[in-house]
Amino acid sequence: MNIILLGPPGSGKGTQALRLVQALDMVQLSTGDMLRAARKSGTDIGKTVAAVMDRGDLVTDDIVISLIRERLTGDLPAGGAILDGFPRTLAQADALGALLDGIGMTLDRVIEMKVDDEALVRRVTGRFTCSDCGAVYHDDTHRTQTEGICDVCGGRRFTRRGDDNEESFRIRLLAYYRETAPLIGYYHALGKLRPVNGSADIDGVSAEIREALEEGVSS
Ligand code: AMP
Repeated sequence: MNIILLGPPGSGKGTQALRLVQALDMVQLSTGDMLRAARKSGTDIGKTVAAVMDRGDLVTDDIVISLIRERLTGDLPAGGAILDGFPRTLAQADALGALLDGIGMTLDRVIEMKVDDEALVRRVTGRFTCSDCGAVYHDDTHRTQTEGICDVCGGRRFTRRGDDNEESFRIRLLAYYRETAPLIGYYHALGKLRPVNGSADIDGVSAEIREALEEGVSS
């Protein structure tokens, strides 16, 4: 099964993708993670996108489409792919459709994570992740069980994203409403959309997503 997790910054896409990877034999394809990795290793793409990402704007469609094409045309696990943070524009959605057609794959579900905006800013500004496995935590609402040790992998190194501050967040939210929210109607019209309440607790959201994946599409 191939799915998209669609939702504003801080809606829990990464957290839920990680859970699906652990539960089902799926791979998480996060364009944000790919771009951060490109920056870290200092590739040409990484250098091109650094300032744009820090500001909170979207990088160009060509760049993210080529990153996704590379991964989707490579080896994928039997469970399929979770697209996290891609597509984010109508052009990316069209390119994804053409790419999947070309390689004989289907898009099965688009999970829309619905969360109130003010909750988003609080979530994003306290967020940190395990540098080893990517597990996501929060200063107020989801600390590690043992201070300084990742619950999932036992890692001891944590990272905070440079764009997880209120100023960049507001620009990312604007980019979401301008560029990405139209995809809700797009996938609704294709009969693939399934909204979930992203404000519930993490287990509750996971359960709703699993239900949406198992039950079929009702849009
Ligand atoms: P994310 O980790 O998904 O929040 O992405 C972090 C940043 O990477 C975004 O604010 C954008 O600058 C860039 N980015 C990630 N995915 C995309 C995409 N599909 N299209 C354009 N920019 C993206």
